[in-house]
Amino acid sequence: MSSQETVDVIRRNLQSVHSNIAAACAVSGRSPDDVTLVAVTKYAQWPWVEALATQYQVFGENRPQQLSERAPKLPSVEWHLIGQLQRNKVRQALEHAHTIHSVDSLRLLERISKVAADLNQHPNVLLQVNVSGEESKSGFRPDELLAEWDQISVCCENVRIAGLMTMAPASDDPEAARPTFRGLRQLREQLRNTSGGAQIRGELNHLSMGMSGDFSVAVQEGATLVRIGSRLFDGLVDSESR
Ligand SMILES: *Cc1c(COP(=O)(O)O)cnc(C)c1O
Repeated sequence: MSSQETVDVIRRNLQSVHSNIAAACAVSGRSPDDVTLVAVTKYAQWPWVEALATQYQVFGENRPQQLSERAPKLPSVEWHLIGQLQRNKVRQALEHAHTIHSVDSLRLLERISKVAADLNQHPNVLLQVNVSGEESKSGFRPDELLAEWDQISVCCENVRIAGLMTMAPASDDPEAARPTFRGLRQLREQLRNTSGGAQIRGELNHLSMGMSGDFSVAVQEGATLVRIGSRLFDGLVDSESR
């Protein structure tokens, strides 16, 4: 596949994702301007990433290592870290990420704040919540976040808690994800209504939820950030499998 063909395939995929987002906004009375696509490049080959960057500039990677390899090559892109972060990779992540979606414990949040202070940064973070309660998923439990919110919302001077993130259980049926997404939105309302909310650093403006299979439902339920990977690279041929 020529690089022009790659650009064309990605352009069509981007248009189709954006029109699906617009349609989901229309049914829920939202503005498409309030939804940002985070184009997930974790499985994309480098030429695809470069082709995407000619058309769109908000990307998400799930591993700090790959983020730190790729971000310096495309400095005009706003890079998000969406995958699990070990405490010893925080510095690497902060050097490259505009937003970290996957803060799944108070210990990690405290570590990020400390390293951010060293780097003189005020990074945006999202707290990952295990809304569905699956054993396999990391994240704060909703009841734990509510109970500790007064403490969490003011604990970490150098971070902005910009919102919440969740992942729905794997399913072929997008509707199966709806209770998880709705649960995250309702949790945000509850957090905003607790006393600590008054002093929170950041305003919980963002809900990061929805992937290739279920983002329309997520947008209907209030997602402001949708993390979409495979749909954007549909129809491209993996050079290693040819
Ligand atoms: C891979 C990944 C996505 C994107 O998944 P697709 O199904 O390829 O759209 C979104 N969020 C996280 C946390 C991921 O790891």
